[in-house]
Formats: sequence, C-alpha cells, structure tokens
Amino acid sequence: MIDVVALTRGLVGLDTVDKAESEALKSLAPLLEGAGFTVAISEHEPGRGTLVAEWRTELDVPPLCLSGHVDTVPLGSAPWRHDPFGEIDGDRLYGRGASDMKGGVAAIVLAAIRIAAATPRRAGLRLVLTAAEETGSLGARHVARSLLGGPSGPLVIAEPTGNTVVHGHKGALWLEALATGVTAHGSMPSLGDNAIYKLARAVSRFQDHRFEDGPHPVMGSPTLNVGTIQGGLNTNSVPDRAVATVDIRTITGQHHEEVAACLARAAGPDVKLRPLVDLPPVWTDPDDAWARSVAEIVRQVTGQAGEPRAATYFTDASVLTPALGSVPTVVCGPGEAEQAHVTDEWCSVTRLAESVEIFERICADWCAV
Ligand SMILES: [Zn+2]
Repeated sequence: MIDVVALTRGLVGLDTVDKAESEALKSLAPLLEGAGFTVAISEHEPGRGTLVAEWRTELDVPPLCLSGHVDTVPLGSAPWRHDPFGEIDGDRLYGRGASDMKGGVAAIVLAAIRIAAATPRRAGLRLVLTAAEETGSLGARHVARSLLGGPSGPLVIAEPTGNTVVHGHKGALWLEALATGVTAHGSMPSLGDNAIYKLARAVSRFQDHRFEDGPHPVMGSPTLNVGTIQGGLNTNSVPDRAVATVDIRTITGQHHEEVAACLARAAGPDVKLRPLVDLPPVWTDPDDAWARSVAEIVRQVTGQAGEPRAATYFTDASVLTPALGSVPTVVCGPGEAEQAHVTDEWCSVTRLAESVEIFERICADWCAV
C-alpha cells in the first residue's frame, strides 16, 4: 500500500491553489472505494469538489467523522528555495500544502483504509475532504447542505497542530463597513458630503471598541482588526464612497448577530455594515470523555501530554460541527501551525507517520475494531 509520505507528496504535486480540488480528490477516491467506502464528490463550482466517503455499519452507533481541506493558498511573492510542488530533504517534505494540510488529508485517508480492512466493527467512518476552506469554507458549506445527514459521532479536523490536541478555535466575523456621501469639487468641500470623514470616525470607534465578553479560559479574549480601507478617487474631489473591512475573532458564548449589532451601534448611522465571512467559534470541553480519549491516544503515540489549547485561526469545524449536530470536535494534524501559508512550507516526515497511527487509534477506539 502507498505510504503517507508518498501520498502527501502526490497531493502536494497537484496545484490546488484556489482551484482544481476535484482533481486531487479523484486521486484519492479509488483508494477509498477499494477499501469499501462509498465515495461522492460534489462540486460547488466546476472543478472544485468536496468528497464525502462513507464506510457504513449495520449498528446504530453514529460514524466518526474525519475532515481536511485540499485547497491551498498561493505560493506568495518571495522565491522558494525548495520545490513548492514537493521535495524531500531529510525529515522535511517541502511544498505548498505540506503542513496546511495535504499531509493531514493523506494521514486521514490512510488511517481510514487501514481501519476499513479490520473487522468486526461497532461504528462506521465518514470522511469529508473539502474544497475552498481557505476562502471561507465554501466546500464544507456545500456538503453541509447537500450531503450530510443522519446522526454523527465526533469530528476530527486534521489542520496543522504538530500532532497535539486543540480543543477548539475562535470564530471569524468579517465585516465590510461602507460610508457614502456626496461628491463635489475639492476646492468647495462645503458643497459635498465627505464619506472618508464618516468612515474614519467609525474606524476610530472600532479601534476603541472593547468587547464585554470573556476572556475565555483557554481561547482568551475576542479581537478586532481593521484590515483594509479605501476611499476617494482623486485628490481634488470630495469622496462620495469609502469602505473598510474589519476582522473580528470571537470566542465561544458570543453570537455573531449580536456582535455585528454592537459594532453597528459603535459605527453610528453614517456607516453600513455587511458580513463577508461568518464562521462561529468551536469549543469542546477538554473533560469530554471522547476528547480525553483522544488526548490519551496522542500522549501514547507522541509522548507529549499537552494542555488544553485553542487556535486563533478558524477551520471547517465552524461549518461542519454545527451541521453534524454540535458533536465533540478536536483539531489534530501532522503539519506545523507556523508552517501554514509560509514560503518553503514543510511538514515533518516523522509527524506524518505518527499522525496515521494517531488517526488509526482514534478510529479504532470509536469503531471498536
Ligand atoms: Zn488549513
């Protein structure tokens, strides 16, 4: 059988920078079908598929769900010293997506195949391999609507954590703030209504905004960042349009409609807010019985005990966890979090092999093979 390093390298060799996820998934589908999985690839736009693979059982213990995304971010403008489409040097497999997160996807697939070869079993498995996670979990949203159904067991997301257990992550609420006005000649500003002044007042209120919620004992406090601002077309005109984008990272217990309403009050009546990305936070109590069993498996395989942790980045769990019925969820994968999106991204070959073993044991524990 193909090993995890070869499978990861094969995936890294396919260019899925914001496209062509279906091609990568078609290379995995025969492996899963050969192991007895029923596989469906559903595209949210041409060439951009999300794969759902089911390995069913007659018993009614709901299936464990394993998930990862196959799209990657662009290579960036800095030149790479290593081949961005796959190169092995010592313990490192270099390439875009090695850590985030084709290594995690390869480990999920191989662990699932190994478990499917073993019988008897108590519960089935479901794999969800998604498109377009990096641009707001579009593939996960697509299958959440069209393919997921019936009760589900817990969810593992194989995003890069260096094979440690992460119990959740912040949510992301991205807002567009728009101010409009009336244009006039720049030498006669009193005849116009300056949109930049309106937006600037709102932006400085955003800077001073203090969230009442939190801090969460593990996630910390919510954050807010104004990431972009644009306004005006030329120096000698009063600008009639100005727009900013705001990135809010929320903690469990915050509801995004309330956060958006609060920000709208802070912005004032001159500025209209519109959500661009709305992904809720995800959190599983580290004392949850299944989460504890996962932490123990990870400790046995890696020798690292690990404290309860949360990530600041979001994952497809923001969509999949609620779609599956708010199931217990952990993030655990072989990539290194700090390698995500960087030039000369790499994943440790040792961690890839460890990860297959971790996933295999997590599956065996749930499916009671
Ligand atoms: Zn990722």
